[in-house]
Amino acid sequence: MCSAELLKETRQEVTALLRHLIRIDTTNPPGNEIKAAEFLAGSLEEEGFKCELFESKPSRGSLITRMKGSREGPSLLLLSHVDVVPANPKEWTVDPFAGMVKDDFVWGRGALDMKSMTAIEVVVMKLLKRKHARLKGDIILAATADEEKGGEDGVGWLTRKHPEKIRADYVVNEGGGLAIPVNGKNVYTVQTAEKGILWFKVKARGTPGHGSVPGASDNAILRMNNVVGKLERYHSKIVLTPTVRQFLAKMAKEHRTARKTFTKLLESPATADSVLDELARKDKMLAEETRAKLRMTVTPTIIHGGVKENIIPSECEAVFDCRVLPGQTTAAAMGKIRNLLRNVGLENLDFEIIQANEPSESPFDKPLYREIVSSLREFEPGCAVVPDMLTGGTDSRFLRKLGAVCYGFQPMRADMPYGELKSGIHGVDERISIDNLVFGASVLYTVVKRFMTRVNT
Ligand SMILES: [Zn+2]
Repeated sequence: MCSAELLKETRQEVTALLRHLIRIDTTNPPGNEIKAAEFLAGSLEEEGFKCELFESKPSRGSLITRMKGSREGPSLLLLSHVDVVPANPKEWTVDPFAGMVKDDFVWGRGALDMKSMTAIEVVVMKLLKRKHARLKGDIILAATADEEKGGEDGVGWLTRKHPEKIRADYVVNEGGGLAIPVNGKNVYTVQTAEKGILWFKVKARGTPGHGSVPGASDNAILRMNNVVGKLERYHSKIVLTPTVRQFLAKMAKEHRTARKTFTKLLESPATADSVLDELARKDKMLAEETRAKLRMTVTPTIIHGGVKENIIPSECEAVFDCRVLPGQTTAAAMGKIRNLLRNVGLENLDFEIIQANEPSESPFDKPLYREIVSSLREFEPGCAVVPDMLTGGTDSRFLRKLGAVCYGFQPMRADMPYGELKSGIHGVDERISIDNLVFGASVLYTVVKRFMTRVNT
């Protein structure tokens, strides 16, 4: 089938699905994802799919369905989460849960993150069934709960309780696919790696006293000030992971204006900071995103201390967000941080780990990656594709732990300013163009159909 026909068939369907999904409020917390899972089950069952609903806790629902293959080839999981982060209607120019269409965009919470991908994946499954695709391996679709709060009641729970339902050789999920326009050419990202998350709390202890005689007490806020200062001045070692190395090499090739920068980063990573400082004067976002891909980072995000104007506080608490690279561990990072704070007085500091998720990376030298590249080039001759590391986290980490090769890939063209698009995710006026919905569905369908109907080695 040619892509023009596919476009027509898909346009209405994928748009309607997304609008419906946005209207089901799955703000997490509390989530209430079962409503979205039930809606999707109904939609899929109409076309003969058998669906299973799983509830990790009451109303925390995830949906799974499967199309059987002949077992001659690898299996593939099409993954998405159906929960969304809160939206404050007062800050939006439209109702975030109305699923409205305006200016050929679908507006609403989840339009980008990531109900659009859920709609796209459902459409891909339906198209495969309608076209009687002869699959060599099983394709599983999972629309899950709780990603926005860490995934423990969604994919985390599924991988612990029902790993056989969700285990696959390959996974396609969120986290990549957005084109970076470079010199008039689209460079599409495929997320092949993500950093690990270490959220920890530090409690600094001191002794209370009167604010008018500061020397007589031990001020916990000043101790915390030293902790924050030490961690701010800490620049961890630069490490190029395989994904980042490939990302830099590709960008050096494609990015005329920043070619020198990327080449220097590759050739002498130790000088990265001065090279990136220079780039930051021209493109702050690109420079800082790149810097965060090169090392472990740690930054304070919450701080509390003191109870009254004239009391020297005996306690001060701060929360830090630390992100570690693939190849590093959260335990080693915690050890490093404690070590750095030796001089601040470990005996007066208590540490508590709030959340720790290990980093993960998948190889990009794989048949599915090559299929993504060749399919994209058919839709858009001359485009480039780069593997990319996400500095944030996705549910892919749970599946990589089960042995799956995971790629973040929702193909999208940059049809609105990059900053506006990024600020819609978890921000206000989140929206996706209908063209991007159709483009995403068409590319993903092509990739999946080709990859799953031939024998891959
Ligand atoms: Zn998401």
